[in-house]
Amino acid sequence: MLEKVVIANRGEIALRILRACHTLGIRTVAVHSTVDRNLKHVAMADESVCIGPPPSNRSYLDMPAIIAAAEVTDAQAIHPGYGFLSENADFAERVEQSGFVFIGPKAETIRLMGDKVEAIRAMQEAGVPCVPGSGGPLGDDAATNVKIAREIGYPVIVKAAGGGGGRGMRVVHTEAALVNAIATTKQEAKAAFGNDMVYMEKFLENPRHVEIQVLADGQGGAIHLGERDCSMQRRHQKVVEEAPAPGITPDERAEIGRVCVEACIRIGYRGAGTFEFLYENGRFYFIEMNTRIQVEHPVTELVTGIDLVREQLMIASGHRLSIRQEDVVLTGHAIECRINAEDPETFLPSPGTILHFHAPGGPGVRVDTHVYEGYAVPPNYDSMIGKLIVHGADREQAICRMRVALSEMVVDGIKTNIPLQQRIMRDQGFHAGGQNIHYLEKRLAERKNKTLAIG
Ligand code: ADP
Repeated sequence: MLEKVVIANRGEIALRILRACHTLGIRTVAVHSTVDRNLKHVAMADESVCIGPPPSNRSYLDMPAIIAAAEVTDAQAIHPGYGFLSENADFAERVEQSGFVFIGPKAETIRLMGDKVEAIRAMQEAGVPCVPGSGGPLGDDAATNVKIAREIGYPVIVKAAGGGGGRGMRVVHTEAALVNAIATTKQEAKAAFGNDMVYMEKFLENPRHVEIQVLADGQGGAIHLGERDCSMQRRHQKVVEEAPAPGITPDERAEIGRVCVEACIRIGYRGAGTFEFLYENGRFYFIEMNTRIQVEHPVTELVTGIDLVREQLMIASGHRLSIRQEDVVLTGHAIECRINAEDPETFLPSPGTILHFHAPGGPGVRVDTHVYEGYAVPPNYDSMIGKLIVHGADREQAICRMRVALSEMVVDGIKTNIPLQQRIMRDQGFHAGGQNIHYLEKRLAERKNKTLAIG
């Protein structure tokens, strides 16, 4: 078993990782920026190292500083969490070259999945259903590209191979706009990602976002833990997630899960991972694989009873998976609301000091957060200050529990999106379930128009 782990992250996920480590008797090292010395997990860790000033590129993205922290504390492994360096293949490589365990897949797997063109190619070979598309990078010949788009059928989406975070994509509705759109996306991709390779896919107009959680030990063992529906999004950012996905049948789940497990074995996947799909008219279309733990992992934990971060640590310690596919049983329904320090109407970030804080409780209620009364939310990082997750016997009960939990939650001194989450939990369309990825933005636009009309 690993004995000491560096947690190369901050906020709620750093605390989540710390708890999993301590449960397994693993000692922890917190690394933090100067503005983060008051984080909860820094106080709880066995050791802590300040790695730099607030800007991420001088602390949480500073690879030598993090590796040096592992060296001076005599740690064995580094857990990257999500965001920051979690999907950086060069970091994973440098960690391993320095003699530490990177808690995640091999660097080559991260590199493969980070190149969307290569990732799609690998997935197609592994039998994973993908969006109909160019099947490779687009060249410079306009006539060829026009032909590819005609074969796919409009609308199409031009995407950067090195893109991420919802950037580097352009939807094209007509042939007249195609050639310019490709040129512009290429330029933007070059500037943003240092790689001007782009490819083309059919643009699915009303899909849902449904993703499959997997665990693989890199020694031939792999399982899936069912799916999550993350269709409630604003600007490609997930706002609410749930498991299981409304309307997905056990047969559909078993089939897409089996395909993902086979792909994991084929690419020698190691660790926790997520296959993201768009789901439309009863079909799954692979868009990308996340090679790390995800923000929304707790909903899967609540319906399966499996501690995903513990499993990551077990796999990184060299253990084979002890859970068999037939042991994975989904019970009830779980919903997660992301709690952000932002204005619920304008969505502008709202950093500042939390004057009063009260976390909800009761049966089936889980709060993953690093904040507390008197904590100052710094302006330097992501605005997510926590996650409220509930579990119920069924979806109806989960929604009721979430409504009550949201009404109990108090975060005073800063603005939060709790009022938005309360509206979503009361929304009839959300209640019906199975809405597509445009639903939330459509509802927000309607509300804005109504307010303007009344105002
Ligand atoms: P990123 O790595 O930037 O998150 P993804 O490939 O995961 O990029 O796509 C991000 C989002 O863009 C998706 O969740 C979906 O909303 C939209 N999108 C991507 N590809 C398509 C497509 N072929 N059709 C419709 N929407 C798409």
